[in-house]
Amino acid sequence: MSTAPKVPLLINGKFVESKSDIWYDVHNPATGEVVAQVPEALPEERDAAVKAASDAFLTWKETAVQRRVRTMFKFQQLVQDNMDELAAIITREQGKTLADAKGDVFRGFEVVEHSCATAQLMLGDTLENVANGTDIYSIRQPLGVCAGIAPFNFPAMIPMWMFSLGSTTGNTYVMKPSERVPGCMTRLAELALEAGLPAGVLNIIHGKHEAVDFICTDPAIRAISFVGSNRAGEHIFDLGTRHGKRVQSNLGAKNHAVIMPDADREATINALVGAAFGAAGQRCMALSMSVFVGEAAEWIPEIAERAAELKVGAGDKEDTDVGPMITPQARERAEAIVTAAVEQGATLALDGRGVKVPGCEGGDFFGPTVLTGVEPGNPAYDEEIFAPVMSVTTRDSLDDAIALINANQYGNGCAIFTQSGAAARKFQHEVDVGQVGINLPIPVPLPMFSFTGSRGSIRGDINFYGKGAIQFFTQVKTVTSNWNFKVNANTKSTVMPTL
Ligand code: NAD
Repeated sequence: MSTAPKVPLLINGKFVESKSDIWYDVHNPATGEVVAQVPEALPEERDAAVKAASDAFLTWKETAVQRRVRTMFKFQQLVQDNMDELAAIITREQGKTLADAKGDVFRGFEVVEHSCATAQLMLGDTLENVANGTDIYSIRQPLGVCAGIAPFNFPAMIPMWMFSLGSTTGNTYVMKPSERVPGCMTRLAELALEAGLPAGVLNIIHGKHEAVDFICTDPAIRAISFVGSNRAGEHIFDLGTRHGKRVQSNLGAKNHAVIMPDADREATINALVGAAFGAAGQRCMALSMSVFVGEAAEWIPEIAERAAELKVGAGDKEDTDVGPMITPQARERAEAIVTAAVEQGATLALDGRGVKVPGCEGGDFFGPTVLTGVEPGNPAYDEEIFAPVMSVTTRDSLDDAIALINANQYGNGCAIFTQSGAAARKFQHEVDVGQVGINLPIPVPLPMFSFTGSRGSIRGDINFYGKGAIQFFTQVKTVTSNWNFKVNANTKSTVMPTL
């Protein structure tokens, strides 16, 4: 029996220990040490969380939007004040460097800040005098109980995408964090309660597939936000929508960078290396595929040289550039893909397999790896590796590079590096990808916009945060009011009314 601390559930404003017999170990990926245990919540515990959210909805939806938002104002301050602690929890459970973990918290914090504008964002539409004394207006109302299912790679940002706007719009929430990184969500919820979020507005259940299927099928849950892999996300989208729920599912990625010969060489190589290997390549917006156009191909050897300079190590060490991967299975899978890629014709320009980090012998490290000559059909191209592996290829023209990207199954993010406005304009117009960076490697949109995806990277059509979130978390009611009733309807008529 492990003696590691047990991660609690949050039900109706109280942190409670699950009575489950099934507990999963949470590891520090840099050492392999078990740092916590997380339960597969019991059916009655999951029911209790949804009941708490359903009960809380009755008063929360009647709470004035300004008051709901005031809680988030306090919460965003508390997140800021506790940034270092939140980052340390992320590094301990997820492995990314402390600086990167602060970025994770910060990008979620920005969405919390944005949620403080909910009163403005929820405004409806009005059209006066569509007939004598008659006006039409639409109002946005919350849905009820909403649920979030989060991945391991952004333990702070993605839950904050979900429950902050979910609750300021008047809904109540049930979060299921990734079972690999549950600690950050616990701390965020403590801060939300400290900020004054009433009991039951935010609840947390833990678990794997059973908990997910419960969320997809429970009749009281009205909407589900999911971020994670295609395997889970497609299942959740199908099961959730079949049970009448609104579902937004942000899925996997293969993000291409196109490097034009006129790009700034030094800045581009640095940007590519940072975006491919940062967070050990475990970002949905990692630039895992570089396409060098024309003479830019001469720069390829520099990528491997620059990548080899990155320091692999534990995320809590100051000089670490690349932390560990999340699990031994994830590392072994990535290693196997690299091996298969080479067997099937790719060239290994830099091999990070088997890297050792002194003092962290139990860690799951994988050094920066560069594969060249990677074409569709090769596993390094066809799979989302989700590891510090950059695959490289060349194309003769921008048209060919765009054709390659548009034929890929995913459409999450991409970037072009160029000094030509015309090339950039053509790229942004023709590429079928949700997020486009122009001389910017990881174009995660700020929260006044939405996180958009295309093709295999998304299921559902209402995006996370920004205006999309208001659409997702509310339903529109349209009212036609007639304050000239007597005058307008002084004779009986069986004809379809027209205005
Ligand atoms: P994952 O799909 O394994 O897990 C995500 C969540 O789904 C977890 O809470 C997990 O418990 C649950 N889950 C896992 N497998 C399941 C299954 N078969 N059935 C039901 N539920 C299941 O994803 P991950 O490994 O935690 O995260 C990495 C993936 O997330 C990558 O594919 C990455 O591209 C993607 N991602 C996408 C975005 C985006 O916005 N597009 C952002 C971050 C991560």
